[in-house]
Amino acid sequence: MPFQNNFGSGSSPGAVSVIYCEKMQEAIRMSNIDPRWGAWTKQPDPVPRDQIVKELRCDVAVLGAGIAGTACALRAAQSGLSVTVLEKAGSWSARGGNIGVIGSAYMDARGYRNDPEKIAREWIARCGNRCDEELVWLYLNRSRDAMDWLIDIVTRPEYGARPELQACLYAGDTYYEVFGSHRFFDGPMAKKGMRPGAADAVYAMVTEAEKLGVRFLYRSPAVELVREDGRIRGAVARTDEGYIRVLAGKGVVLATGDIGGSPEMCEDLAPLAVRCGVNLYTPKGCNTGDGHRLGLWAGGALEDGPFPMVLHPQAYFFANYCFLFVDGNGKRFMNEDNYIQGKSIAMLRRNMTSAWSIIDGNWRETVPASIRYGGGIFWDLDHAPDEPGFTPEIGEKMLEGGLRSGKVVTADTPEALAEAMGIPADTFAATLKRYNTDAHAGRDTQFGKRRELLFPLEKPPFYGLKFGPAVLAVVGGLKVGTDMGVRDENGAAIPGLYAVGNAAGGRYGVDYPMLIPGNSHGTALTFGYVLGEQLGRS
Ligand SMILES: Cc1cc2nc3c(=O)[nH]c(=O)nc-3n(C[C@H](O)[C@H](O)[C@H](O)COP(=O)(O)OP(=O)(O)OC[C@H]3O[C@@H](n4cnc5c(N)ncnc54)[C@H](O)[C@@H]3O)c2cc1C
Repeated sequence: MPFQNNFGSGSSPGAVSVIYCEKMQEAIRMSNIDPRWGAWTKQPDPVPRDQIVKELRCDVAVLGAGIAGTACALRAAQSGLSVTVLEKAGSWSARGGNIGVIGSAYMDARGYRNDPEKIAREWIARCGNRCDEELVWLYLNRSRDAMDWLIDIVTRPEYGARPELQACLYAGDTYYEVFGSHRFFDGPMAKKGMRPGAADAVYAMVTEAEKLGVRFLYRSPAVELVREDGRIRGAVARTDEGYIRVLAGKGVVLATGDIGGSPEMCEDLAPLAVRCGVNLYTPKGCNTGDGHRLGLWAGGALEDGPFPMVLHPQAYFFANYCFLFVDGNGKRFMNEDNYIQGKSIAMLRRNMTSAWSIIDGNWRETVPASIRYGGGIFWDLDHAPDEPGFTPEIGEKMLEGGLRSGKVVTADTPEALAEAMGIPADTFAATLKRYNTDAHAGRDTQFGKRRELLFPLEKPPFYGLKFGPAVLAVVGGLKVGTDMGVRDENGAAIPGLYAVGNAAGGRYGVDYPMLIPGNSHGTALTFGYVLGEQLGRS
């Protein structure tokens, strides 16, 4: 498609002023940067003009080629805009399988429907009333459109991916999860061995965007923003050839992902992430909150901390079920009937990076019996609605693997198991005795676990499964409106600056609600899609 320039003919490179001016910086610092935050808030010196080797012009500059950035780039290009995507890594990026939305034509055809009003109420409650209700409704109102659009793309013959719904859902009586998570099987990336899901979605969006002339510049991290007349007009990126300046007439989109790769930012904004020994993000080292910082330096405000996190208890053994969890002292510490966020946070709150989940020789019967009342990931297994999920055969293979890797230990007596786990045998024996007494009585006198999930652990062999929390993403960011425009401390827009995906805040507030699994991808996709469309109309 022809390259368009909406930047205005009078805008020579010389007319563009970089936003770094000490007075302005000081004013910004006073209003939107908490003085208790660390050195990460310090704005680097501006890139000297004579080091800028090239200037490019386009309508929209997208910083970051993850799911949010690529959705935005493609949708904007479909609306006829010229788009440049600057990406820090050597390629686009994606990870994980589930993309969660409120519904889709695919879901309708299979008879699965959600009640958005019920979901909204539940979402807001689980987020401690600290999420932005308008953003939640934007997701609920538009995620169906975004998913229908995505399915139309990924199922084209050149991609050949097959959508499937995720039926591995936690079914508690207090917390619950609903259908809405879509995965993509048999696409080109899944065939290459990547996890079926986000990779095929992003690959197809990038390929379609390239067909429409979107320019993807890899190994090109954005390092500063360009402001002219109070409006953000572009970005400067570091490339192998030197610094380049990309001027964007309609706006700059921060789609740079989360802060989980920056211990200093996490220390200030998501301290529990620092306590967690494992962060699974890839490409490693790219999620250093660059967009958060660029937004702050441009006058944007961050949502209130501590930031919510996507946590999975998968740091060691893959499964943990719901029976008896003990800490390093051999003591029970929580109601094991919880979903993944609850289990992970219960451990991080106590500064624990791992714990032991105990099962006994009855696990082939008790695990399937428990899944009926609980389940969800790392208890049940990923599966489609017409597939079985956890089976004793798969459980057997997992245990064998765990025993080989040392993440699972086994013994014929509780005392020997305690020794293998390296925890005090006396305390463990007392914990187990009380647990079994309660299980026989059908009443958990310590933490009130549902009676349906109380199974005595008495039959050898006994197993200890080592498990612990891992951070997948820190999902807090810059304050944005429903137009995805970055807002300052007073709620005023920073003209020309937008944020989507994990660079944007407001979706969650305090905790990641697994209500619709995969909603971190789902909101990133939806808001990128909506913003691309909106820029096309502006
Ligand atoms: C192992 C794993 C599995 C996961 N599984 C799921 C799942 O199943 N479902 C779900 O909903 N969520 C899942 N998540 C979380 C999910 O991947 C993220 O929340 C989501 O991808 C965020 O999308 P994004 O576009 O905002 O950011 P990202 O996908 O992180 O993309 C940001 C991009 O910006 C680039 N970038 C960073 N700084 C700059 C810069 N200065 N200039 C230019 N580019 C820059 C990065 O290199 C990256 O490519 C998983 C996370 C992990 C780690």
